[in-house]
Amino acid sequence: MLRIDVVTIFPGLFEPFLGESMVGIACERGKARIEVHDLRDWATDRHRTVDDAPYGGGPGMVMRPEPLVAAIEALAGEQGGERKARVILLSPRGRRLDQARVEDLAREEHLVLVCGRYEGVDQRVIDLAVDEEISIGDYVLCGGEVAAMAVVEAVTRLLPGVLGNPESTERESFRRGLLEGPQYTRPAEFRGRAVPEVLRSGDHGKVAGWHERQARAVTRERRPDLLAGDGEPATDEREASERAEGERKKEGERT
Ligand code: SAM
Repeated sequence: MLRIDVVTIFPGLFEPFLGESMVGIACERGKARIEVHDLRDWATDRHRTVDDAPYGGGPGMVMRPEPLVAAIEALAGEQGGERKARVILLSPRGRRLDQARVEDLAREEHLVLVCGRYEGVDQRVIDLAVDEEISIGDYVLCGGEVAAMAVVEAVTRLLPGVLGNPESTERESFRRGLLEGPQYTRPAEFRGRAVPEVLRSGDHGKVAGWHERQARAVTRERRPDLLAGDGEPATDEREASERAEGERKKEGERT
């Protein structure tokens, strides 16, 4: 069972999210145990303050180190000491999340996800208590809660016994370094557009070949960075992810 603790100043945001869909099923089936903690429970003043003005001036507020470090150490133990969990701060400065990292996280036993707010967190929290910073994309949210939900959902759906059919992750995007091709369901014709004949042929070999060709075509068109110079997909997810990361870096150097 994967245990996930979330630290936030808005625990109420998680209530409906944790009770529904695959995340709800993962908890119900005992594959994940997810607990949400109100950071203010670790505040020490009467007003349960968790933020303060930034040193050196500037706009907004910064999350104070004392409640955050106390919360993290209560849930995960001290860094370098008896650390029981991997502590992740959701942050736009973090490494961009991809499917290979999600696969790794799904193999952990215990994650602590820390949601920032305001202008972010005091650097000493990161230095003293955080193992890793993760971003869910190159844009800025108001807080880490939606990012933490993205991590929870991406990770829990990979836990064995959560998805009804484990094969459903096999052909999906980013597996084997390819995007998924188009999919169809009934009716066979809709507004003059017919489902490709091969999908209705009942020939499993031909259907598999069609899916493979479509996946390669979509990947070539939309994410050529996932493919090697010879146009072939990476042999595994990590290779695909590293290749995409390399392309992004090269792109960044060019701009
Ligand atoms: N001042 C920060 C900056 O410029 O990088 C942005 C702070 S943001 C308004 C507040 C919090 O939202 C962050 O501390 C982080 O926890 C979360 N957050 C915002 N964008 C995120 C992203 N793309 N990925 C993960 N977390 C994000």
